[in-house]
Amino acid sequence: MNSRENKGLAIASNSEITREGNIWTVPSQSSSKRYAVDLFLNKCSCPDFAENAQRCKHLHAIEFLLQRESGLELPADEPRRTYPQKWHEYNLAQTNEKARFLELLHGLCAGVEEPVQTFGRPRLPLSEMLFCAAFKVYSTISGRRFISDLRDALTKGFISKVPHFNSVSNYLEDEALTPYLKAMIEESARPLAAVEWDFAVDSSGFATGQYQRWVTAKYGAAKFIDKESWIKVHLMCGVKTNIVTSVESDARARGRQSAVCASGGNYLAQLPDPECSG
Ligand SMILES: [Zn+2]
Repeated sequence: MNSRENKGLAIASNSEITREGNIWTVPSQSSSKRYAVDLFLNKCSCPDFAENAQRCKHLHAIEFLLQRESGLELPADEPRRTYPQKWHEYNLAQTNEKARFLELLHGLCAGVEEPVQTFGRPRLPLSEMLFCAAFKVYSTISGRRFISDLRDALTKGFISKVPHFNSVSNYLEDEALTPYLKAMIEESARPLAAVEWDFAVDSSGFATGQYQRWVTAKYGAAKFIDKESWIKVHLMCGVKTNIVTSVESDARARGRQSAVCASGGNYLAQLPDPECSG
C-alpha cells in the first residue's frame, strides 16, 4: 500500500463517513474540516486532490469502506517502519555541518569559470556571488543579520570582500545566476553517482517570505496557498540518498531561490529550516 492508501484505510476504520447520493462526506485527518467526495466523478474537494489530481486518501477511504460493507476483508494496517538512530554519527554530522558546508560550498563555487567583464563597475567575482547567495539561503536569517556571517567567511578566506547586504539580495534576483546554480546542483550530486541508481520525480515548495512554511500551505487552509509567496519546484532526486540531481521551477523568474536551496541541501542532513522545506 502507498501512503495515501494507508491513510485512507485509517480514515475508513476510525472516522465517521456519511453519504448522500453519490456524495460522501469524509472528515479530514488533521483538522475539523470535512471533504466532499464524488464517487461518480472520482473527485474530492481536498487540497491534495486539487493540487495533484490523483486519488487522495479520502477517495481510498471510501473504496475501503465499500469493500468492508460488501463483506470483503480489508488489508492489514501496515505498521510505520522506524529505523534506529545512529547517535554518534548523527552528532558528528550535526556538530560539523556548518563548517563542512562552507568548505564544500566554497570548493563548488571555486569551480565556476569567471565570465569576462567588459563594462560596468567592478563587482564581486561570480564564484563569490554564488557563494554568498547559497550561504545566505542556508543561513535562513535576514540580509542585514547575515553580514556578520559574511565577515567570518572573509576571515576564513572564502570570500575576498564583504558585499553590501543589498548586493546579496540582488544576486538572488539576478537571472544570470540561474544556469550556474543549476550546474552546481548537478556537480554537487556527482559524488553520489556511484551509489545512487534509482531516481524519483518529486516536487516541493519554497517560501519566499521567511516565516511561512510549506507544510502550512500544503496541509493547512487553502487560503494560505498564495501564489506570490510560494515557489513550486519540481526536482529529480535519488531514492537512497535523497540527493537532488536537477531542478525545474514552474515560476521561471523565481527559480533561482529554489535552485539555491537545493544545491545547499545536497550537502546537508535534511533538516527542515524556515526557507527551504519539503
Ligand atoms: Zn481528498
